[in-house]
Order: sequence, then structure tokens, then C-alpha cells
Amino acid sequence: MQFQTMIMIYLKTTEEIEIMRESVLDVSKTLALIAEYIGEGVSTKKLDSLAEEFIRDNGGVPSFKGYQGFPASLCLSVNHEVVHGIPGDYILKSGDIISVDCGVYKNGFHGDHAYSFKIGTVNKAVSKLLRTTKESLYKGIEAAVVGNRIGDIGYAVQNYVQNERYTVVRELTGHGLGKSLHEEPSVPNFGKRGRGAKIENGMVLAVEPMINMGKKDVRQLSDGWTIVTTDKLPSAHFEHDIAIINGKAEILSTFDLLEDVLKKRGMEIS
Ligand code: MG
Ligand code: MG
Repeated sequence: MQFQTMIMIYLKTTEEIEIMRESVLDVSKTLALIAEYIGEGVSTKKLDSLAEEFIRDNGGVPSFKGYQGFPASLCLSVNHEVVHGIPGDYILKSGDIISVDCGVYKNGFHGDHAYSFKIGTVNKAVSKLLRTTKESLYKGIEAAVVGNRIGDIGYAVQNYVQNERYTVVRELTGHGLGKSLHEEPSVPNFGKRGRGAKIENGMVLAVEPMINMGKKDVRQLSDGWTIVTTDKLPSAHFEHDIAIINGKAEILSTFDLLEDVLKKRGMEIS
């Protein structure tokens, strides 16, 4: 007899998913706004204040601000910072990469997604890390179909990035999304096929590979938030929100808005 850990997964109705689209799209629009301002010479706290104003002007609330005491609206994580970086006085410079992670709470539901931007000229090896991490996100999403389990998502991500000799952060995972910012199930970016919770219609998941160029090990800085790689090599992070509808994943979020802005500015997409 096999015992399974009891976890509470809140499946969403079609109506709830429709409501969630707006929260998620507000995140995509906020990332597009950030794309207009991001670049060399800009401080991370400037980006944060732009995002907060935009989110509130659109009738939302920044999901992250005050979440377990987090002090800002964006998590901004530069270079060897993996996730949960706190905006501050840091001035972006050419060659940096930065994960911009944003959450919006509106109409009772959260949206939560992220994009890693390039600042100025980023070297080829780091560009490849970004491209591969972004591609791995879509590999994970393709595995999110009814008939599969949560472990199939992680397996797909891990298998894809390990082929390029990158490593997967273990301590942080994707997650269910809904009335709470972080719901069950957690969605690791590593795993075994056929393991974990069954993927079901009505699941809404934030899939978010965090992929390191060097070793997989991370630690938390003394600020109580920022996660960094222990070997100080770069890490990349992309996040989409998906809903399982008619047996397969529909991506509720979009990078198109922000990438259109970057292209118009003559900047490279990741
Ligand atoms: Mg996020
Ligand atoms: Mg998330």
C-alpha cells in the first residue's frame, strides 16, 4: 500500500481562469513597461517604482510588496543573483543580465511571471544561458498535459538544460497560482517522469526554471531574501503562468509585449 502526501490543489473554473487572465496580462504589461525603461545607467529601484505606479494605476496591487515582508513590487536579480533580489541603488551596466519578476493581485487572483533581460552587450556564453533557459520553460510547458504528472514538467526542463551542461536550482520551484500567490502543487524544475501530482484540467501553474551556468548550489544573502549562486556564476530565470484547459497547457502570460518594446528600442531579446 502506498501512502501519498495530502496536498490541496485548487482547480479553477473556466470563469476563474477568465478572471485570472486579467491579473496575468497586467504582469505582462508591467514587464513591457519595464522594457521601455530598462538599460545601462538605470537603478533597480527606479524600475521598481515605475512598476508599482503602473500596477496601481491599472487597479491592481503588487503581489510581492509586503509578501512575508518583501519590501518591493518587483524581484530584481542581477547576474549571479538567482531570484528574490531586492531593488535598490544598483545601477545597471552593459553586460548585466537581470531577472525581472512581477506579481499583480486583481479581482481576487494573482498573476506572477518573469523575464531575464540583457543590458547592453552580453557575452555569448551568458546569452546562450538565457536562450536555453527560456527554451526550457517551453519544454516544461509542453509536458504539462493531462495524462502527465508534475514530475514530467521538471524532467523536461532538467533534461533540456543538462544537455547544455547547465544546472537546475533545487531549492526554489514553480507553483500553483490563484487566490494565493503560492499554491500547491510545487513545480520543481527537475524530476522524474510519471512522479508527482496528476496534471488536471483547471490547474493554474507558474512554471519558472532557474538555471545556473555553473554549479547548482545557491545560498541566501543576509538581507533575508536574495538567492545567489555559491560559485558566483550567472543564473537565468523565466516564468510563465499556464492554465490546463481541454487537456493541455494554455499560456496565460506573454513575452510578446515586452519583446516588441525591446525590438523597437533596438535591444536584443533573450
Ligand atoms: Mg515570479
Ligand atoms: Mg512564481
